[in-house]
Amino acid sequence: MKKIIDILKFYQDIGVEYTKKINLQDKEDIWKNLENEVVNCKKCSLFKERTNPVFGAGNKDARLMFVGEAPGRDEDKQGVPFVGRAGRLLNELLKDVGIDRKEIYIANCLKCRPPNNRDPLSSELKMCFGYLKRQIALIKPKVIVTLGRYSTYELTDEKAAMGQLIGRVFEFGNIKVVPIYHPAYLLRNPKAIDIFTRHLKKVKRLVEE
Ligand code: SF4
Repeated sequence: MKKIIDILKFYQDIGVEYTKKINLQDKEDIWKNLENEVVNCKKCSLFKERTNPVFGAGNKDARLMFVGEAPGRDEDKQGVPFVGRAGRLLNELLKDVGIDRKEIYIANCLKCRPPNNRDPLSSELKMCFGYLKRQIALIKPKVIVTLGRYSTYELTDEKAAMGQLIGRVFEFGNIKVVPIYHPAYLLRNPKAIDIFTRHLKKVKRLVEE
């Protein structure tokens, strides 16, 4: 009984409506239904130009989750998050600090690629955010790393420059949220890689605490 109360409390904390129907389904069914909703989603106009929606990937029981901004060209083609140059750099940096990508879950705020990789619109972020919240509620990670400003703003409600937010520890429900740079930014500013790695090590410690 306590477990059910904890689950209900968690859903309440992050603002997800917890219905009797969801309560009776097992976790895999809930994941499948959620993914189907995304595949068929037409809530914003981005569905018109996407090749594939990019739902998210990784360990659904992860203690550490990464949230990026939106799919890019390679992700849109393959339907998998962080598989382009930025994704490859992220994999290398994760490996450097001893984090196995297979152990984490990665998703984006937007599930469909904005044309020509333009910045997400606030209306698009608002419409898509419910999917991410439900992914978080299912995974229940201990720590979320937000990659770049869009996911940071969505999950922390802070609107300051990334330089002022990076490495700080925020809370989303009972989950710790740590903003760091987006790997695409690191491709343009390799000098920031050391800062990224330093904060990634701190994140690893937070997960292991
Ligand atoms: S970006 Fe999100 S809200 Fe917009 S169509 Fe894709 S899944 Fe739906």
